[in-house]
Amino acid sequence: MLESRFMLSQRDIPTNWYNIAADLPAPLAPPLHPGTGQPIGPADLAPLFPMELILQEVSTERYISIPEEVREIYKLWRPTPLLRAVRLEKALDTPAKIYYKYEGVSPAGSHKPNTAVPQAYYNAKEGVKRISTETGAGQWGSSLAFACQLFGLECLVYMVKVSYYQKPYRRSMMHTWGARVVASPSTETNAGRGILAEHPDSPGSLGIAISEAVEVAASDPDTRYSLGSVLNHVLLHQTVIGQEAKQALAAIGDYPDVVIGCVGGGSSFAGLAFPFLQDRLTQGRPTRFLAVEPAACPSLTKGKYAYDYGDAVGMTPMVKMFTLGHTFMPAGIHAGGLRYHGMAPLISALVETGDITPVAYHQNPVFAAAVQFARTEGIIPAPESSHAIVAAIDEALDAKAKGEERVIVFNLSGHGFFDMAAYDQYLAGDLVDYEYPADAVTEALQHLPAVG
Ligand SMILES: *Cc1c(COP(=O)(O)O)cnc(C)c1O
Repeated sequence: MLESRFMLSQRDIPTNWYNIAADLPAPLAPPLHPGTGQPIGPADLAPLFPMELILQEVSTERYISIPEEVREIYKLWRPTPLLRAVRLEKALDTPAKIYYKYEGVSPAGSHKPNTAVPQAYYNAKEGVKRISTETGAGQWGSSLAFACQLFGLECLVYMVKVSYYQKPYRRSMMHTWGARVVASPSTETNAGRGILAEHPDSPGSLGIAISEAVEVAASDPDTRYSLGSVLNHVLLHQTVIGQEAKQALAAIGDYPDVVIGCVGGGSSFAGLAFPFLQDRLTQGRPTRFLAVEPAACPSLTKGKYAYDYGDAVGMTPMVKMFTLGHTFMPAGIHAGGLRYHGMAPLISALVETGDITPVAYHQNPVFAAAVQFARTEGIIPAPESSHAIVAAIDEALDAKAKGEERVIVFNLSGHGFFDMAAYDQYLAGDLVDYEYPADAVTEALQHLPAVG
C-alpha cells in the first residue's frame, strides 16, 4: 500500500519559530514613520502592539522559542497532515510527486490561528484587556476571536460592511467565539464617521477597517491592535508549517524541487517556504519557490518595489515592499484574502533577490484547479489556496512534458466551506476574469509617498 497521509506526533510540534531575518542576503530596509519619514523604533509601535511582538518584529535571532502555553494550544490541530495527492497525480498522469500541507484542519479552517494564538498570548501576558482588528471576508477575524477566547481577552472586529452582510456565517463564527463584530465604516470612530459623512452608502474596505481598528487601539490604553499577515512577526509564527513539512518529508526521504503557496500578504506562503528557503540561502540548495497571486491584484508581478503605507489612508508606518499603491482598489475577486495592495517586506526582499519567483493567475483557471482537486483529493479548497493548486498542477504537467520526476510541495492554506457561493458562480459559468487593471495601477502608483 502506498502511503499518502503523513502524520507527525504532537511531540514533534516545533519548539522554535524560524526567523529568516537571520539569513537574509541583506538586512531589510527600515520601516519609516508616516509623519516624519524617519526610521521608527520600538517605542513608536508600543501604543499598538505588546512589546514582545515588537521585539520579534525587529529581531535577527535565527530561532525564537515558542512559549509552552502556545504549543499546548497548537496541539488542538497541530501537527497538521502532510498528504501526497496520489489521485491528482494519477488524473494528471504525471511522473511528479505532489505533496500538500493541509492547514484547513485548524478550528478556524486556515493557517491563521498559528499566529492569532501567540498574538493573543503575548497581549494577555502584558495585561492587555482587548484586541481590535479588521477583517475582510472574516477569516482573520474568526481566527483572532477564537484565540482571544482562549486567553479571556475581548475581541473587537471591524468587518468590511459588504462582507458583513454577504458572509454572515463567518460573522456567526466570530459571535460564537465571543467577539464583537462591527460593520465598517461605523459610527464608533472618527475614521468611520468621516467616511460615512462623505459616503453614507460606503461598502467599506480593508483600508477603512484598518483605520478604525488602529484608531480604537491608539486611543485606549487597555486595547492593542493585531494584524493577520504582512508583518515580520506574523510570518515568523507561521514557520511551524514549513518546519513540520520538512520533518515529515525527511522521514519519507523526499525534498522539494519546488515549493508553492498563494500570497495575499504573504504569511502562509512564508510559513511553508521559509524553513526550506533557509537551505537555499545558507547551503545553496536549488529549490524553486513560487508565490502565486491573483492577476486582478498582482502586487509582485506588476507592482513596484518601493516605500508605501500598509493601509489605504496613510496612518501606518511606510515599509519597503512590492505595492500597487495604497489607493489601489482591487476588483471583487472571490479570493478575498488575496486582495491587498502590498506584500510582506520579507517576501518582497526575496523576490527582489530572485530567491522567490512570483506568478499570477486569473480566477477561472484557479477555480478549475480547485474543482479538479476537490474531485480527486476530496477537500474543497479555499479560493485563496486554489491559487497554489493551479500552479502545482502546471508544475506537474511541465514535469510530465519534460519526462522529469519532480517533487512539488504546496500549501493548502484553508478549506472553502464558507465560499460555496463562489463555487456556485464558477459552476454556473458566471465567474468573470478581471483584466489586469493597468490604468488603475499606474494611477495608484502616482500616490506613493515621497521618501528620502
Ligand atoms: C487569509 C488567507 C490567505 C492569504 O493570506 P496570507 O497572509 O498571504 O497567507 C490565504 N489562504 C487562506 C485560506 C486565508 O484565509
